Amino acid sequence: MVEARARALAERFPASREILDYYVRVAAFSGDFHDLAALAKHAPAPLRSAARGLDGATLKAAIDEYLAGRDTKSPRSLFARLMLRHALPEPPRSPQPHECPKCGQPPQCGVLDPEGDGNALSLVCSLCRHEWRFRRGRCPSCGSDDAEEVYCYHAEEIPHVETQVCEACQRYLHLIRRDREPAAIPEVDELVALPLDVMCLNYGFVKIHPNLAGV
Ligand SMILES: [Zn+2]
Ligand SMILES: [Zn+2]
Repeated sequence: MVEARARALAERFPASREILDYYVRVAAFSGDFHDLAALAKHAPAPLRSAARGLDGATLKAAIDEYLAGRDTKSPRSLFARLMLRHALPEPPRSPQPHECPKCGQPPQCGVLDPEGDGNALSLVCSLCRHEWRFRRGRCPSCGSDDAEEVYCYHAEEIPHVETQVCEACQRYLHLIRRDREPAAIPEVDELVALPLDVMCLNYGFVKIHPNLAGV
């Protein structure tokens, strides 16, 4: 399913073809440490070089740093995340509204589904891909729901993705419009939003949580 979706998106958004190709391999990763090196061969350049020095001990350290929230962005931490997907952390006893109720990790992106006359927002976990409901118009990073501070951008060439930014904490995340595109798979479709990532970075916004390609 991921592979078919990635191929369909690569046809429509050729600028994201490389990252989508890599993502197909990420989705098929077995969780076996020895397969990391093979996966890394097809990764974007910074990931390839990070994989070279990776052994059991450094990977375990990267996993600990990731779970403690100290390093969620380095190339090494992306490999830690891949391994964690096959050994999920304990669910939090009382998760905060912005934390995944299954594994406690922050959201990667949001997804909008039709509901009544409008649509409803769910957040999508950056680690286990679980989706849970979240109030629209609220920033998952700092909790602001001031409409002057929290608002959306979109790009004409990507009509099924919106980007919610928050001026209070300067963070952003992409919202995938599954109401417009029912075949969308949030963590795959999020990869075609690169032009919106560039725009956000230019305005000084930082993504709430990078995706597995490090963007
Ligand atoms: Zn989760
Ligand atoms: Zn915020």
